[in-house]
Amino acid sequence: MSEETKNVPAPPGPQGPTAESPQVLPILPLRNSVFFPGGVLPLAVGRQKTIALIKDAVRDEKVIGVVTQVRAEDEDPGADGLYTVGTVARIVKLLKMGEDNYSLVVQGISRFRVLEFVQFTPYLEARVELIPEEKPGDDVELEALAINLKKLAREVIEMMPEIPAAATELVESISHPGHLADLIVANIDVSLEEKQRVLEKIDLKERMKLVLELLNRKREILKISSKIDSQVKGEMSKTQREYYLRQQLKAIKEELGELGDDEEEDLEELAERLKKAGLPPEVEKVANKELNRLKTIPTASSEYTVARTYLEWLADLPWQTATEDNLDLENARQVLDADHYDIEKVKKRILEYLAVRKLKNDMRGPILCLVGPPGVGKTSLGQSIARAVGRKFVRLSLGGVRDEAEIRGHRRTYVGALPGRIIQSMKKAGTINPVMMLDEIDKLGSDFRGDPAAALLEVLDPEQNNSFSDHYLDVPYDLSKVMFIATANQLEPIPAPLRDRMEIIELPGYTFDEKMHIAKRHLIPKQLREHGITDEHLELTDAALAKIIVGYTREAGVRNLERRIADVCRAIAVGVASGRTEKRVIDEGDLAEILGPEKFYNEVAERTEITGVATGLAWTPTGGDILFIEATKMPGKGTLTLTGQLGDVMKESAQAALSYVRSKSRSLGIDPSFLEKQDVHIHFPAGAIPKDGPSAGVTIVTALVSLLADIHARGDTAMTGEITLRGQVLPVGGIKEKVLAAHRAGIKRVILPERNRKDIVDVPEQARQELEFVFASHLDEVLTAALDRSPFVPAQAPEVPPTAAEARA
Ligand code: ADP
Repeated sequence: MSEETKNVPAPPGPQGPTAESPQVLPILPLRNSVFFPGGVLPLAVGRQKTIALIKDAVRDEKVIGVVTQVRAEDEDPGADGLYTVGTVARIVKLLKMGEDNYSLVVQGISRFRVLEFVQFTPYLEARVELIPEEKPGDDVELEALAINLKKLAREVIEMMPEIPAAATELVESISHPGHLADLIVANIDVSLEEKQRVLEKIDLKERMKLVLELLNRKREILKISSKIDSQVKGEMSKTQREYYLRQQLKAIKEELGELGDDEEEDLEELAERLKKAGLPPEVEKVANKELNRLKTIPTASSEYTVARTYLEWLADLPWQTATEDNLDLENARQVLDADHYDIEKVKKRILEYLAVRKLKNDMRGPILCLVGPPGVGKTSLGQSIARAVGRKFVRLSLGGVRDEAEIRGHRRTYVGALPGRIIQSMKKAGTINPVMMLDEIDKLGSDFRGDPAAALLEVLDPEQNNSFSDHYLDVPYDLSKVMFIATANQLEPIPAPLRDRMEIIELPGYTFDEKMHIAKRHLIPKQLREHGITDEHLELTDAALAKIIVGYTREAGVRNLERRIADVCRAIAVGVASGRTEKRVIDEGDLAEILGPEKFYNEVAERTEITGVATGLAWTPTGGDILFIEATKMPGKGTLTLTGQLGDVMKESAQAALSYVRSKSRSLGIDPSFLEKQDVHIHFPAGAIPKDGPSAGVTIVTALVSLLADIHARGDTAMTGEITLRGQVLPVGGIKEKVLAAHRAGIKRVILPERNRKDIVDVPEQARQELEFVFASHLDEVLTAALDRSPFVPAQAPEVPPTAAEARA
């Protein structure tokens, strides 16, 4: 039940109050709106009181008074609920829309003021005072105000596109300034109270000023909102425009094969990285030139990729970044001790080395070279040194490097060219002063593709390596801050010029006891950690550990030992992961279940159970090993067959052995014609491994005599030594490794050339204590010591066994 309150632009208003307007008017309360003289207002009427009023008014053809309610929600406003100034109106149209529902249109005539209410039911009636509109007259101020009002109205109308343009014409056509003010204020959205204030302004000038003020405010609001609007729109269209243009640009560039936006951004980023890399001036020049060139190359071309990869390398390499050295020797000692058991001599040498570096205050100087069989801790020593001095650690393997380009890189003109391993490692390190481990420097090869050792010399030469030239980089790179450490299994194959630059530190391998200690203190705790278990889950008994060392591994280092311990840890970890909580104690007897059958038990005794087999000692890059030599005979014509990948020197030494046995056959009780009716075959097991060298001579002779004289070789004895045709025993190399290998394999007696006696001092104390040494200068002594019984026929050999050169060290 509410009155429709939309004002429509009114036709030119009536000519002021009329004489016939009665003094008592029925009062129609108006919600939500203020009705002005000259206006036309459609109303929907639903209130009973209002319906009664309208019916009477229409019947009596009376005018009515329209007054705005103070509060719109007031359902039945009395005298207090209504403003006191309203508009006399004529009903111009009445339509019945339904039961108790009327629609009417009223036209405003003039203002009036309520003096008093004279009736309240069925509808309000009041005695009123009519307020005639002033005649404007010739007032300049009024005229000026009117002109301003019209101008402002036009402006506002223009700013409000929802108002029809005809409204401007309407405003122009109104001549009475009071009507103009009323019309304007009726049609702008100011508050009800303000509209009522305008209605109550009887004085023309005041009314116009008030309307001007309201209109002005409206204009400002409109201006601001349109500004906001246009700003928002402006921003939108600017970014949209840019986006559109960029897309077009991209398409054009793609078409031309030039840099797109993304690429350009990429290049900017690359330029930024190059700036941050701290390139030396001459390198920066090269980089800038290349960068500028890059901008002109089509991205799809391979040249682009080449140039770009090159710049990436320059940006990624460390040029300035360095770690600070910690030259605190006490700290270094602690780190070395924490990581490594024993090897005191080695640690001492390393500490001395660091001390000299500290005193000289530079890291240049001879390069450390750690020499020893695999698994003795060369790599981990390198890592410890890096940790001790607080440097990064990188490792690069030189094993099998034959091509100089692998060290120095390929020139960029090659497709897919890359820097050499040195520069690659520098990138990996990320600092200019890492500890760089050059692994297996003894395995460096050389062939027609150039000599990698020569390149390496340059790397290691402190006079040259501050401007190392890599073919790919093509700019000098400073390696002088790098601390190089080399490793090798053997010393001999290292090219002499390289060897000269290095300070050699030897790590010969470990004895059984040392291995026990290393395992207990380092390897087991380390492997427990790596498998996520603790000593709460696993205990390895000493007996089990000993069995792993003796029965499952045979090596100078501890690499396989560590692997077997890892196997055990893994097996336990699986149990823990699946819910086992109680501790597992692994004893000797449990090993087979986890590691499979033992690999090395009783081998010597077993092998020598037949005649013709003797145990030799060989030096190998992995630290020395025992080696069986098997001789067999078969009917034939006296040919000698040798198998087991032998080198020439070894073959010759087998020939010499056979010749010696033939020449001595009579005194050895062997039928001298044995070679006329039989073939002899000597086999060196582990046939896949190449063997060479003269040091198996004494063993071959022993195997042959054992075979032909049918006497067992002793199961507890191993031997090494070169022979001459006359039966002299000559010294050989690798005594320390060979003796340790014998010790590891459970050998009790070792026969060595007399002239190697001096080398025994190098053998670790423990092995020396536990082994019996026989030093021989002639084969007779060897054979006597190596065979179960003396092979010499009584005529030559006295009853008492010879004790000639037997000795205990
Ligand atoms: P290499 O480089 O000589 O072949 P590694 O440095 O790889 O040998 O050593 C193999 C494993 O043996 C490493 O886990 C290392 O920590 C351990 N190891 C070697 N020697 C010792 C030692 N004296 N004390 C403690 N752990 C050692």
